[in-house]
Amino acid sequence: MRWVRNLRTKRIRLVYLIIGLVIASMLGTTCIQTAVGFRSDLQSLSRTTLSLNMESAAKMSATMDSLITSMNANLKTTAESLSQQPQEPQQVLEYLDLMRASGGYFNSMFLTDPEGVVTHISPLSVGIMGQRLTTEAVQDSLSLRRPYISKPYRAVTGRMIVLMTYPLFDASGTYAGMVGGSIYLQEFNVLNSILGISSANASGSYAYVVDYAGNLIYHPAPGRLGQNVNANKVVQQLLQGLGGSSDVINTQGHRFLAGYSPVPKVGWGIVVQSPYEGVYEAALQTALRQILYSLPFWLLFLLGAILIARMLTVPFTVLSEAAEHISKGHPVSGPPFHSHWNYEANQLNNTIMLAMQGLQDQAEEYAAQAKTDPLTGLTNRRTMDSYTGLWVKERRPFGMMALDIDRFKSVNDTYGHQTGDEVLKMLASRMIAATEPTDICCRYGGEEFIILLPDTSLEEVYRRAESIRSSMATSASPTGKPVTVSIGIAGYPSDSTNIQELFQFADRALYQAKQSGRNRVVIHAR
Ligand code: GH3
Ligand code: MG
Ligand code: MG
Repeated sequence: MRWVRNLRTKRIRLVYLIIGLVIASMLGTTCIQTAVGFRSDLQSLSRTTLSLNMESAAKMSATMDSLITSMNANLKTTAESLSQQPQEPQQVLEYLDLMRASGGYFNSMFLTDPEGVVTHISPLSVGIMGQRLTTEAVQDSLSLRRPYISKPYRAVTGRMIVLMTYPLFDASGTYAGMVGGSIYLQEFNVLNSILGISSANASGSYAYVVDYAGNLIYHPAPGRLGQNVNANKVVQQLLQGLGGSSDVINTQGHRFLAGYSPVPKVGWGIVVQSPYEGVYEAALQTALRQILYSLPFWLLFLLGAILIARMLTVPFTVLSEAAEHISKGHPVSGPPFHSHWNYEANQLNNTIMLAMQGLQDQAEEYAAQAKTDPLTGLTNRRTMDSYTGLWVKERRPFGMMALDIDRFKSVNDTYGHQTGDEVLKMLASRMIAATEPTDICCRYGGEEFIILLPDTSLEEVYRRAESIRSSMATSASPTGKPVTVSIGIAGYPSDSTNIQELFQFADRALYQAKQSGRNRVVIHAR
């Protein structure tokens, strides 16, 4: 079950998901379409094949019918002309030869006496002159004394034949034997000429003929001649004198689409059939061709889907990259894109950017708050420490003022803490006014302040300290009266390169200012 867990922890990329869905739906549609198309092709091809086979069976049976009429007429003519006037044996032979050759119906023709003894035969090479024929067919014909067609049977020559006979009567009307015509089933014969000599055509279709008992008298496979196939459903229909078409399994177990038609005159039947496999194959070929033809369109469509999927997923990628960028502490540089054609992507972009902007503003505010004193808005002590640390590291010279409000306790006591706070704010604004933006004004604690002035001479520092002191001393504070300050000054690195010591020096100068009467500026004395 590890793969299930893997699958759960894996995140699928949206672009692959969309492309996957498109491929799946296209594959599904193609499969369904091909299957439906294949089925209907197979059905219509089967129907067409059945009706074509039925048509050709009907045509063949019509031809066969007239052929049998002609064959019978041929025998009749022969019988009548030979029985009218007795002739020389040689003349009879010549006549038989002529009839056989001109008709082209029989492989051999012969005459027998009433006992079945062969009196004449064409061609002579058959070699049964003078023999008495005892086969069932000959005996039946002799006893019936009328036109007769035999079942296929093995003749005395060993050949598989069908025999057609016509009775002979002499001038006085006495039965004198018969004239017979043989069709050699396993050799080229008259049936071949109308049913085709090829055993099967390209599609595997072929025709076969059964006699009135269901025996094969014509079949492209010579080995099957004479075989009885009346177990075949189609043959059973033919034996009942019915024509039609049918999807049939033959006696050999193969499936065929058969058209069939009886030959009523002789009770034979003709079957034209095509292997179902061939029709199936053809329908399959059509289906495959359809898939092949649709392939370029399929690919084009897929390409379009990939393009759209990529276009659709780009904003999500861009947004997630932007979010990652911000989460690493980089500032929000503006929306990754201004607008997007996809509604959801556009909404997401706007919402994320608003949220990000809000977060960033808040973060900036917190950072500023962490750096400043809430009452005066001046830099706090921690931030000041970071400046002194940096400047000492850079060996950057700076002046330092330490300020303390004079007698502040009494301000608080007389006017209240609130007013005291207002005084603190007033001093802060005077400090800012008297210094450069690059200078650091800091509330060090309580009513004590520090000002750092980078790259400033001690003279200049003193001048600015004096300006703060005098501005406080000469203007009314929130108490209504002036509140004075005392200021001590020290310089880095002129007084000390040690920051602790520098503070002590500035503090000491401030103490001196207090000692010497307050409201004054004292520079640390070396
Ligand atoms: P000196 O001239 O010697 O400095 O006298 P001083 O009264 O100012 O004495 P000191 O500096 O010791 O007094 C500090 C007073 O500052 C104590 C406290 O009441 C007041 N103070 C400290 N922080 C604040 C503050 O945030 N607001 C107000 N209103 N008063 C404060
Ligand atoms: Mg103090
Ligand atoms: Mg004080």
